[in-house]
Parts: sequence; C-alpha cells; structure tokens
Amino acid sequence: MTKLNRREMAEKTEKDLAHKVLDDIKAPKDLGLLRCVQCGLCTSVCPASRHSEYDAREIIKRVLDNDETIIEDEVIWNCFYCYTCHSVCPVGNSVCHVNQILREMAIQKDVGKKQIESFMSFADSYLEEGLGVIPQEYQGQLKIDYGKHWENLQENLQEVREDLGLDSMYLLPEAKETVDKTLEAIGFKKRVQEIKDVRNRK
Ligand code: SF4
Ligand code: SF4
Repeated sequence: MTKLNRREMAEKTEKDLAHKVLDDIKAPKDLGLLRCVQCGLCTSVCPASRHSEYDAREIIKRVLDNDETIIEDEVIWNCFYCYTCHSVCPVGNSVCHVNQILREMAIQKDVGKKQIESFMSFADSYLEEGLGVIPQEYQGQLKIDYGKHWENLQENLQEVREDLGLDSMYLLPEAKETVDKTLEAIGFKKRVQEIKDVRNRK
C-alpha cells in the first residue's frame, strides 16, 4: 500500500465546512447541523428570508454541501440574530449560530471586515471611554426618531441620573485604565485596527 506524504495526509484529513462550523468554539456542543432534514421550517419563520433574497434553509444546505463560497457571499449578513429559526428547528439546529460562525470565518478572510465597519464607532467608544456609549454617528438618526425627547434626555442626562441617585455614567480614570489594558490583552485593539486598515485601503 502506498504511504501518503504529509501534504496528502493533510488534504485527506481537511475538514469539510460543516465540521469546521461544528468545531468552532462558538458552536454549541449539541448543534444539530448534521441532523438538518431540510424541512424549511426555519425559512418559514425567518424575517430575513421574508424580506430579502436570504434563505435560512439554503444557508444550511450550502454548508452541508461543503460550499465554501458561502463564506464570501454577502447573503450571510442579512440574518439579524433574532433566533426565531433556532426556536423552531425540529432537530436542534440553529441557522443563527451557523451564521455567526460563517461571519467570523468571513472576517478572518478579510471579506467580512467591510461588513462590520459600521460597528467601529462602538469599538471607538470602548477605546475612548472604556464603555459602550452611543456613538456620535448614530445620534443624528436617534434625534430624528426620538424628537424632542432625545434632546431632553441628552441635555438632562446627568440631572436625571442624579435624581435617580446614580453616579456619572463615565468611568473613573483607574477603571478606564483597567479596561484599556484588558482591551489590549484580549486583542480587541489589534482587531479593531485591522478592520479600520481594510476600510482605509479602499
Ligand atoms: S435547520 Fe432545522 S428547521 Fe431549518 S431546514 Fe434544517 S431541520 Fe429544518
Ligand atoms: S436568526 Fe437569522 S436566520 Fe434565524 S430567523 Fe432570525 S434572521 Fe432568520
């Protein structure tokens, strides 16, 4: 019998997409991906499937067919994690979880970074304030949605907090420093920079 060399062995043992998803740290241990019977119940309840070309059942089919092009397909970004599919699947699968893992794969391959750049202002608020304040770029829309209530709240936020017996929402310098060190240690800063670099390259 011919002995396989290392590369051939690696190719032979290369995991298919479904197993890559199942082996991801984000995958719940009992994720029923391989048990999917393509019943389409997920699609029937999925708001993203109703309002776009996205099809929850089709996402799973492509994963099971080992169609790696799905990682680069913008359609995976139409899911908004409502978990409705998750709650109805008869075999314990979760298109929602699978999508989260596919997106992470897309981000690792660079193709997904442009999809998450609109969240960068949230990241900036963590870097600047040490907490998730509403970023400036979203405040214009909130102003429109909330009308005068938004301005009242913004202008009087500190007063409202005082009335409620709450301290300032901003962190004390020592706490901010701790958050800053943590963000550095867990690779958050590096990751944010990588995503911004992709935006700047455009
Ligand atoms: S993921 Fe679940 S609900 Fe969707 S097609 Fe597969 S078995 Fe049916
Ligand atoms: S979590 Fe995503 S796939 Fe599932 S029902 Fe909601 S939008 Fe559809």
